[in-house]
Amino acid sequence: MSDRSLLMIPGPIELEPTVTQVLAEKQRGHLDPRFMAAFSRALKRLRDVFLTTTAQPFVVAGSGTLAMELAVANVIEPGDAVLVVNTGYFSDRLALILERYGAQVTHVRAEPGEVPEVSAVKKVLASGRFKALTVTHVDTSTGVLAPVEALAALAREHGALSLVDGVCSVGAEALRMDAWNVDVALTASQKALGAPPGLAVLLASPRAMTAWRERKKPVPSLYLDFGEWLPVHQAYEAERPSYFATPPVQLVSALDASLGQLLVEGMDARFARHVKLAQAFRAGMRALGLTFLPARDEVMAHALSAVRYPSGVDAALVKAIAQQGVTVAGGLHPQLKGTYFRVGHMGAVSGNDVLAAVGAVERALAQTGAAKDVGAGVAAAERALR
Ligand SMILES: *Cc1c(COP(=O)(O)O)cnc(C)c1O
Repeated sequence: MSDRSLLMIPGPIELEPTVTQVLAEKQRGHLDPRFMAAFSRALKRLRDVFLTTTAQPFVVAGSGTLAMELAVANVIEPGDAVLVVNTGYFSDRLALILERYGAQVTHVRAEPGEVPEVSAVKKVLASGRFKALTVTHVDTSTGVLAPVEALAALAREHGALSLVDGVCSVGAEALRMDAWNVDVALTASQKALGAPPGLAVLLASPRAMTAWRERKKPVPSLYLDFGEWLPVHQAYEAERPSYFATPPVQLVSALDASLGQLLVEGMDARFARHVKLAQAFRAGMRALGLTFLPARDEVMAHALSAVRYPSGVDAALVKAIAQQGVTVAGGLHPQLKGTYFRVGHMGAVSGNDVLAAVGAVERALAQTGAAKDVGAGVAAAERALR
């Protein structure tokens, strides 16, 4: 059977053919000069993608959750006070990791679909001495976008480090590490960076590196210790052989190829494309009478949309959409799981992909009798794209 289905979930995402080709190349050793060159390029390209000239990149075999753990293990020590700007599922996960590493966690929470007020965060930050503030840039469980620039500025003002979980944002949402004074930004290869799953990616500012250097106790995990990875990454960047743990050669090479494509497009153009495609997708959904989980336009991410099921429709819709050729994801937020679905529109997505996704939703809804005016969604998305 042919497999022309389109993958539109919030990661992993469709790969570009040039990225897939890299995966099929001959196996090379981890010290092959061609691989060292690819690793070196990938590290340099990561600085350009994160819009920083000063941060130290780390690329370690693992998923986004490992990147979160890498941040916490190196920068946080037992007893450190950490403020978690909590927007849902992945903020809760970061808090769990922080607690495992002995941090004293204070949450500033919002209702699902909302972000905490910056003024509320400021009040809590001013009330104590926090080592760090963490924020989930895009909460993938709800499609909510947090104001990282304002929150990182607050952290800096109060002498706290800013740790940004950018797993669903880097490469899609505007994130300017240097200009915004972000201290740690992290992601994973399979989201908007457009590579296969398997790599944890983290960039640490000079301030974050200093916090690691000034630790009183060693990092409790050898595999996570910047002390092991820093010399290896410095060597790879200089194309010199070095070894701590075998890097996934194909994945790093695929990441390099994907980052190269990102930078050909240019970061500002890429951010603008994600805004435009998100608006087109939402125009299509609105024309079908659908609403979104994020409470307001200003807190809606551009990497994905979280769309509420209309009345009389349930999670069976996800399967019906798949039968129309587009794979989307169900809900993830523990309390709201069965009330919405999620569509990823990040990475190398095009207007055509958005139209295909809107059309598939529309036809699936028509099957359930919930879409009266078939064609209205695609027409609205077309108008928004024009
Ligand atoms: C996907 C995601 C993660 C977890 O990444 P894994 O690769 O699944 O471990 C963490 N945070 C956010 C915001 C995510 O979207």
